[in-house]
Amino acid sequence: MTDFFDIHPRLMELSRRAEELCVPAFARIAENEEYNGQKVLAAFRKAGISEAHLKGTTGYGYDDRGREGLDAVFAAVFGAEDALVRHTFVSGTHALATALFGVLRPGDLLVSVTGAPYDTLEETIGIRGSGAGSLTEWGVKYRQVELLPDGTPDHAAITEAAKEARVIYIQRSRGYSLRPSLSVEVIGHIAQAAKEQNPGVIVMVDNCYGELVERTEPTQAGADLMAGSLIKNPGGGIAPTGGYIAGRRDLVEQCADRLTCPGMGREVGCTLETLRGMYQGIFLAPTVVAAALKTAVFAAAFYHLLGFEVNPAYDAPRTDIIQSVLTGSPETLCAFCRGIQKGAPVDSFVTPMPWDMPGYDSQVIMAAGAFTMGASIELSADAPLREPYAVWLQGGLTYPTGKAGVILSAQQMAEEGLLKL
Ligand SMILES: *Cc1c(COP(=O)(O)O)cnc(C)c1O
Repeated sequence: MTDFFDIHPRLMELSRRAEELCVPAFARIAENEEYNGQKVLAAFRKAGISEAHLKGTTGYGYDDRGREGLDAVFAAVFGAEDALVRHTFVSGTHALATALFGVLRPGDLLVSVTGAPYDTLEETIGIRGSGAGSLTEWGVKYRQVELLPDGTPDHAAITEAAKEARVIYIQRSRGYSLRPSLSVEVIGHIAQAAKEQNPGVIVMVDNCYGELVERTEPTQAGADLMAGSLIKNPGGGIAPTGGYIAGRRDLVEQCADRLTCPGMGREVGCTLETLRGMYQGIFLAPTVVAAALKTAVFAAAFYHLLGFEVNPAYDAPRTDIIQSVLTGSPETLCAFCRGIQKGAPVDSFVTPMPWDMPGYDSQVIMAAGAFTMGASIELSADAPLREPYAVWLQGGLTYPTGKAGVILSAQQMAEEGLLKL
């Protein structure tokens, strides 16, 4: 690295030591990469994807074989009955909101069982902001089961809440919190317990950042519906936009009616020139997710050696691609982000600044220099400017460049006099 960047020798030494610590975790990541890569290949074969599928349609998009094939590939990869994969989902929040509005009706009770949902969902539900157009305004009731003090789900309270719920909502990833991400196994336990209480309950999972990290997905462990973003894991860094919903066929149909309109559902929606990138993205996703995971594990080991508190630890099991580092001060946090920005292939020369991002309730600083605007499967760091000044790092299309970005973040802190070496 010293050939191309002017890195402090002490940081280079620590990075070598960090990489030694990573050996067992890297081996586990490589095993899952191979398993999931072959799973994706098998899904393409099962769906019989041909060159014709890669070409899009215009106008109404009736009989779009490429769109149907992509749905089939995602369904097979996720072990789900059905999937709805569309470039017209503008974000993960949009896919999640479509799923919630798709299956909930006035008078139904939605229970989030992993505490507060991801910031952007609060306005969708109607627990923040004016409430206009929210689920609450439509007469959907909402309750929240808090996580236990150690950040794990409160199984007893969840079981109780499931009795009256129409939808049990589980967030797999940590989001902007310091709690651990949930494993597919734990999601399965929650789903099973909820259905024992209430067989009609719909178990829905916010699967953002979790896809292809483990060998199975929530839809293979009892979740009825899940959704996520294509500019995160399952887009493989190639899909330029979009989201997906996957799960039980009857529920996916309801979501399709909400996405377009009742009576048309999934039969319309042209794909323009978007299909090739989405197919290529899911095909590459297992390898890109592995690169992102290795980058996260490396960051955990490296910042641990630098004396920072990190979460999760380098040797901890992982079920999402997020790494947090507790920087301790707003200055160090901003320096970290400036360093990550310097390690970006695009816009390496810009200086990230905190701003009032729509949907978030405190100022946020983001470092990202991505081929796809806002894509957090590419190396990026985000942090709300609030205690304890934790920064969340995610992505990395390749491990060599992800690792370089992480080292540059520490180099930036050192250059600003915020790190003693
Ligand atoms: C990214 C994310 C979302 C959706 O965010 P968008 O920016 O709208 O794609 C929802 N939940 C979690 C946990 C996320 O990480």
